[in-house]
Amino acid sequence: MIDTRAHFNPDLSPVELVVLQGTSFCNLNCLYCDLSPESRRIKSSMSADIIDRFFTDLFQCGLAAREVTVLWHSGEPLVLPPSYYDDAIARILRLKDAFASHDISIKFGIQTNGVLINDAWCNFFVRHASHLEVGVSCDGPDDLHDMFRVNWNGRSTHAQTIRGMDPLNSNGIKYKLIAVVNRQTLREPERFYRFFFERREQLSGFHFNILADSNSSHPDLSYSKDDRTMYYSFYSRLLEICRTSIEPFEILNFTQGAARILAPKKEPGHSFFEQATAPFGALNVDTSGNITTFYAGLSVDTLRDLYGDGLGLSLGNIFDIPLTEMTKSKKLKRMMKDFDLSKRACQKSCEYFSVCPGGFDILKKQALGSFESSETVECVIHVKALVDALLDDIQNHVTRTSGSLASA
Ligand code: SF4
Repeated sequence: MIDTRAHFNPDLSPVELVVLQGTSFCNLNCLYCDLSPESRRIKSSMSADIIDRFFTDLFQCGLAAREVTVLWHSGEPLVLPPSYYDDAIARILRLKDAFASHDISIKFGIQTNGVLINDAWCNFFVRHASHLEVGVSCDGPDDLHDMFRVNWNGRSTHAQTIRGMDPLNSNGIKYKLIAVVNRQTLREPERFYRFFFERREQLSGFHFNILADSNSSHPDLSYSKDDRTMYYSFYSRLLEICRTSIEPFEILNFTQGAARILAPKKEPGHSFFEQATAPFGALNVDTSGNITTFYAGLSVDTLRDLYGDGLGLSLGNIFDIPLTEMTKSKKLKRMMKDFDLSKRACQKSCEYFSVCPGGFDILKKQALGSFESSETVECVIHVKALVDALLDDIQNHVTRTSGSLASA
C-alpha cells in the first residue's frame, strides 16, 4: 500500500482528531462559554455537503492517522436530531471505505450539556455504542454547577443535567464527565470529589478544567499568579482524597500529569509540548466549512487579525481550498514558524518544559504580545501548581511506603 503521507511536509502530523461544529446554537447560556452569545443563537447546522467534501479530501489525501476521532462539539450537538448524526456517521464511514488509502479506524464522540438527553437519544447512543462515546458537562453539586451553567433566562440547569444523566445510567450507557472548576470549587474539594465519585460506576472517564482565560470578568473564574498556593492546595487535597478513597477513582488530570512526569525523557521533536500543537494533528471544521488547526476547538475568531486576512488561524474554507493545498500554504508556514518560536522560548526558559502538556501558545501571544515570551498566568495555575502537587504527592507516597517497609 502506498503511504501518501510521504508527500507531505514531515513536520505535519497525521490527523488524529476532527472536531465538527454540527451547530453553533446552544440551548444554554453558560457564563464562561468560549463561543459568543450571538453565535450560540444562530440555528444553522453543518451541511451534508461540508461533511462530504471534508472527509472525501481527508481520506483521499492520505493525511488521516490510523485511528481518527470525530468529535461533535462547540455548540450543543443535541439540538440537532439523532437522525442528523445517524446520517453523518454513515456518510463518514462510507467515504472512508470509498477513499481511504490505508486502514483507518474511526471513533465518534459527542460532547453535550446533557439537558436534552431522552429516550430517543439513549436509543441513538445504544445504536452506536461500538464506536461512539458520550461526554457530559457538569460542574459538580448543584450550587457549584448553577453558578455558571444557566439557561437563556439565567435559570439553573443542574436538575435538568441530572435528568439527562439518569437515563444514560438506566440504559447502561457509560459517559465521560467534564467539570469546570471555579473559585468556590477550590474551597470544597471534598464535596466536588464526592459528587463524581458517587457516579463512578456510570462513567467512562472524568476530568476537570480550569478555565483557560485568567482574565475572566467574573471574580470567581479569574485568577492570577498570586493564586498559585490556592490551586496547589486544591490539587494536593484532591490527590490525597484519591489516595485514601475507599475505592479507586481516576481523575484524568492526575493520571495524565503523572504519566508525563514519569515518562522517559522524549527524543527532541517529540515532547508533550510539541504533540499538543502538532499542525494537522487536530482539525476543526466549523458550520461554514472553515478549517483551523493547532488546537482542538479553535475558531476563526481567535486572533482574527494576526495574519492579515481577518481569518485568525484558519487555513481557509474546504469549498475554496483542498486540504492538500492547505498543507502547502504560506500561511501555514508562518503559523508553524510562530509556534516553533513559542516552543523554543519555553524550552529555553521553563524548567517545566519536559512535563508541560503545551497548548498555551495563543494565550502567550494574547497576554504578552509575542510567541517568544514564555510564562503566563495559565502556566503557573494549570501546569506548575499541578506538577508541584503531583511531585509532592509522589514524594509523600514514597516516603510513607519506605517508612512502613522499614518498620515492618
Ligand atoms: S512557560 Fe508555560 S507553556 Fe511554556 S513550558 Fe512552561 S508551563 Fe509550559
